[in-house]
Amino acid sequence: MEASLTARDRVGIQDFVLLDAYTSESAFLDNLRKRFHENLIYTYIGTLLVSVNPYKELDIYSKKQMDIYMGVNFFELPPHIFALADNVFRTMLFEFNNHFILISGESGAGKTEASKKILQFYAVSCRSTRLLNNVRDRLLLSNPVLEAFGNAKTLKNDNSSRFGKYMDIQFDYQGGAVGGHILSYLLEKSRVVHQNHGERNFHIFYQLVEGGEEDLLRWLGLERNCQHYSYLVQGGCAKVSSINDKNDWKTVQKALSVIELSKSDIEYLFGIIASVLHLGNIKFEADVRGYATLSNNQEMHWVSKVRLKQTTESLHPPIEAKTDEVSFYYISINHVFSPFSVDHAVYARDALAKAIYDRTFNWLVNKINESLANKDSSRKTVIGLLDIYGFEVFSVNSFEQFCINHCNEKLQQLFIELTLKSEQEEYEMEGIEWEPVPYFNNKIICDLVEEKHRGIISLLDEECLRPGEATDLTFLEKMEEKIGGHPHFVTHKLADQKTRKTLQRGDFRLLHYAGEVTYCVVMQQSKNPIIKHCFPSTEPDSKKRPETVVTQFKSSLVGLTEILMSKEPWYVRCIKPNEAKQPGRFDDVLVRHQVKYLGLMEHLRVRRAGFAYRRKYEIFLQRYKPLCPDTWPNWKGTAAEGVQRLIKHLGYKRDEYKLGRTKIFIRHPRTLFATEDAFQDC
Ligand code: ADP
Ligand code: MG
Repeated sequence: MEASLTARDRVGIQDFVLLDAYTSESAFLDNLRKRFHENLIYTYIGTLLVSVNPYKELDIYSKKQMDIYMGVNFFELPPHIFALADNVFRTMLFEFNNHFILISGESGAGKTEASKKILQFYAVSCRSTRLLNNVRDRLLLSNPVLEAFGNAKTLKNDNSSRFGKYMDIQFDYQGGAVGGHILSYLLEKSRVVHQNHGERNFHIFYQLVEGGEEDLLRWLGLERNCQHYSYLVQGGCAKVSSINDKNDWKTVQKALSVIELSKSDIEYLFGIIASVLHLGNIKFEADVRGYATLSNNQEMHWVSKVRLKQTTESLHPPIEAKTDEVSFYYISINHVFSPFSVDHAVYARDALAKAIYDRTFNWLVNKINESLANKDSSRKTVIGLLDIYGFEVFSVNSFEQFCINHCNEKLQQLFIELTLKSEQEEYEMEGIEWEPVPYFNNKIICDLVEEKHRGIISLLDEECLRPGEATDLTFLEKMEEKIGGHPHFVTHKLADQKTRKTLQRGDFRLLHYAGEVTYCVVMQQSKNPIIKHCFPSTEPDSKKRPETVVTQFKSSLVGLTEILMSKEPWYVRCIKPNEAKQPGRFDDVLVRHQVKYLGLMEHLRVRRAGFAYRRKYEIFLQRYKPLCPDTWPNWKGTAAEGVQRLIKHLGYKRDEYKLGRTKIFIRHPRTLFATEDAFQDC
């Protein structure tokens, strides 16, 4: 706790719950800003951690700092991501149950950095043996590998995660990290073939071209010049000052060997990466009938040379190659391109490149999982880390942004369900006097997208499966017909005059919880006949309706929600202080907006009015009965009466607790900590 008033004035308050004007958004911002300028980027709302990206290295993540935070109660030290990590860890050990840490915030707000810090903390703090150190190193080094293949420079973040990641860290009952598992979500594969101005392709391509050894490049037929590859230069910024591709290549090589990719796996892997680059350089010309032909066979030669057959077969699930001798790509490309116009052929080429990269990424995740797998079958508990791409709005938003933003919408819904809604419902159920805190429930927007039969996903799915006739336009019309009246959905036709000016005819706009986003119609990308053609379903004779990309996405979200709902939640809310990625700049308008849509004010009000801890009477009594002569060793009355006697003896103040129907509610963690300390001492 800050001791003097002057200190408090300067560095603000470390837990918003203690803020006097706790309902005032301005006071909230003042506190956040004050702390930010003092390099105090972390602040609590109870047990939720708010983090503001400092955009500069702070000396607060050293081993020494980790030691300081280990085993210390939340409120005894300044707020820190390590404090949260440590508390989750200890709660897990103590209660022997599963937890997850949901890290959210928009692109560039610091989610990935936060998840890395947490992982590093566990790597240092948990029990260590030679065997466990192996696991630890793999857990740590899975990061640079996945970042190389799944991150890219965007306008918002030089190291933006272009996939969602959920990582389980598994612990044995003594708290040793014994294994891990990673789930990846929706890699933004369109980036392989197209980058907006000021953006790059995935890091790994540049790392290979810049850092790859001479022999390797020669073998792959690559030149050491990013400018030479059409897939690398569309954003016009192959070089980025904050990124050292050459060094990163070395790091990735080391990491690949630690996660035990074999030499041949690594060769295949870079064979694929190189072939994607060659694929991008294939050009087409129109023949006399207007059909596409290859204008230069050289690139094609390389595409097929780089041992593609093995490569494609090593992928999981395997890509079916139809002929033995000739490279799969050659077949597909000739087959797919032959009756096409040049435009179509280019589209097909790109589709192929995207699909190959996407599969390779999944293969890599599988490989990492194999290496993290825990062979021991004894019971384990897990801490899950969820670092999912943040809400994003670009000038053109397509299917991928639609999915990303919906995913964020769902996670916000989960947050609301778990904190605002269930919390308040519990008070009501327990008969605790309570002034309800109003909040915006974004369920209405989630439903708009995913409701059965009439949600956007269902409509899109139906259209995708209508052979031949469905087009962007029919999809748009269908949406207008079915959900035209929805308050969070607008199109050009439905809009009032003023709004109409801001919409193109083929667009639709969703009013997300975090802001408005206009999407160009998303049919094309989710339908993609060529991908279907190149990658036949793994069960070709199955009568099941084929799964469209959008249904796959929906079911993976359902899966994720289930994973999370079975665990205890903890939250890190990341805030981006300015759009310029600069240290020391705190843009009030930008931050205010995030505070608003992240639901922080509502969360604070519920927290402030509510109770940090609650325990069933039986459990509370069972644990703490040695602290009171009346309840020790046995209490004859009801558990509720026993607890009353106990807390009277402990001297709990009237406003520090409430007694519900089945549970005791304790307002401040401090009260519980004091009791726990007394228990430990007795
Ligand atoms: P997100 O995953 O939310 O898109 P990142 O975690 O990749 O954002 O952060 C973007 C950039 O901001 C990082 O590359 C780093 O430069 C900077 N950054 C984020 N968090 C921190 C931090 N705690 N300390 C220093 N720099 C940070
Ligand atoms: Mg990220």
